[in-house]
Amino acid sequence: MTRRRRIYEGKAKVLFEGPEPGTLVQYFKDDATAFHNQKHGIITGKGVLNNRISEYLMTKLGEIGVPTHFVRRLNMREQLVREVEIIPIELVVRNVAAGSLSKRFGIPEGTQLPRSIMEYYYKSDELNDPIVSEEHITAFGWATPQDLDDMMALSLRINDYLSGLFLGIGLKLVDFKVEFGRLWENDEMRIVLADEISPDNCRLWDVKTNQKLDKDRFREDLGRVEEAYQEVARRLGILPEGGVDTFNTPKPAP
Ligand code: UDP
Repeated sequence: MTRRRRIYEGKAKVLFEGPEPGTLVQYFKDDATAFHNQKHGIITGKGVLNNRISEYLMTKLGEIGVPTHFVRRLNMREQLVREVEIIPIELVVRNVAAGSLSKRFGIPEGTQLPRSIMEYYYKSDELNDPIVSEEHITAFGWATPQDLDDMMALSLRINDYLSGLFLGIGLKLVDFKVEFGRLWENDEMRIVLADEISPDNCRLWDVKTNQKLDKDRFREDLGRVEEAYQEVARRLGILPEGGVDTFNTPKPAP
């Protein structure tokens, strides 16, 4: 295989140059970080599961008209995506109080919020992703008011659609983080959903027991982390019977 150029290495993924101009290969690692990189660990098989879960959710969102960077999954750990100009904003949508919102306002975890709340964080590892307002975003030129309108409208649709999808498999979508990029096509610019959607950036609780089935199991040392990611894939109906190792293994001829 030819050596590919590494474009960027993040905490959970690596981006390589894609096979055609305007494409990238997104490689999913098993590495997990929390608390602004202070905690680091490996969740065995996470990359394989997140690659598959994100493929599934991005495809479903594409089917309801949410534009995404996703093109196709290439193998166990890699997917082909369109190259976009990432907007340096993390948009968090919350339905139920948890994590930093609970801490900031002293609202007990699990409290249903009066309505969905959106927050913006500036993507900067050195600054620990500070929370920011529209004022900061537009004044500092990170995104235009039009970009923000598009991002908000898409995030609301994503929240409505995913909340329903997860509820159907007995999971509560407590909150999630999304990132968007600018995709240029012949002088026309579109805002598209980028990055990934997986238990790394969603909080998912079992509807009946409130059991956490997401990265909080790693953050809070709750144990059975690998099993939680597998359970999400299993409920989505995308976990092969033989487990993670049998992804992409051709089925024997009938
Ligand atoms: N989140 C994320 N990346 C981050 C920060 C948060 O994907 O750098 C996700 C997180 O998994 C959760 C939601 O965004 O689903 C809200 O996270 P919160 O602000 O409560 O921060 P945390 O408690 O994760 O520090």
